[in-house]
Amino acid sequence: MHAECDVCFSVYESDEPSDNFIVFCPKCKKRIFSSSMQGKGPVIPCDIYLGNKKTGLITIKGMSYRLIAHEPPVDVVLSEPTTDLRIYDEASRIYSDRLIFDSNS
Ligand SMILES: [Zn+2]
Repeated sequence: MHAECDVCFSVYESDEPSDNFIVFCPKCKKRIFSSSMQGKGPVIPCDIYLGNKKTGLITIKGMSYRLIAHEPPVDVVLSEPTTDLRIYDEASRIYSDRLIFDSNS
């Protein structure tokens, strides 16, 4: 995984192999990169990275799709379909908002 923030130019790298992942900039609190198997395989589970640290994932739990993270703590049921990347957009909005809220409190 290699991601660079367009805003602050921070570069994040990790060796962990993941088919699906979204990277957020810990300074800017924005999604800066995502990669998925869309068209080739399932887009879930999807790892969530805060910089080069894996902090959560989008996964199925029970009968629902959820965004689960430990830094900051998030456990939210997602409503967008998992057949396309709208679920990434929904999860990204929620996680980004949570990062901003966390940094202001
Ligand atoms: Zn940044």
